[in-house]
Amino acid sequence: MARVPVAKGVFTWPSSSPQLIGSRCSACGIVTFPAQGSCPRCASTEMAEHLLPRRGRLWAWTTQEFPPPSPPYAGPTGDAFVRFGVGYIELAGEVKVETRLTRTDALRIGMDMELVLVPFRTDDAGNEVVTFAFQPVG
Ligand SMILES: [Zn+2]
Repeated sequence: MARVPVAKGVFTWPSSSPQLIGSRCSACGIVTFPAQGSCPRCASTEMAEHLLPRRGRLWAWTTQEFPPPSPPYAGPTGDAFVRFGVGYIELAGEVKVETRLTRTDALRIGMDMELVLVPFRTDDAGNEVVTFAFQPVG
C-alpha cells in the first residue's frame, strides 16, 4: 500500500521531517497558511513560498464529535467515524494554523506541539492517504 498526501502543496512530501507550506508577503511580511496568491493584509501579489516551523504551542482546541459536512470533508463517516481533536497551533512570530490533533485528552492551552503526518483514509486505489496533525511534544 502506497502512502499519498491528502493534497499537493499543503506539506512537504515526501519528507522525514515534514513542514507545512505557507506563504509570506514580500511587501509587508505577513505569513499565511495555507499559501495564498495575494496578501490578506496589504493585497500585494508578491507572495513567496514559506516553510513553517514544525513546532508551536496549542492556542485553542476542541473535539470533533461527528463527521463534518461533505464536501469538503472526505474522511470516514458512519460507524467508521472516530472523533478527533481540532485546534489552533500558534507558530511563534508566524501564524496560527488550524489543524487536526492526534488526541482528544490530556491537552492544555500553551503546551508544546509538533507536526506529524497521520493516516486519514484509504482511497479508491487502495493507497493510504495521509494528512497533517499536531501532537504533544515528548
Ligand atoms: Zn502584505
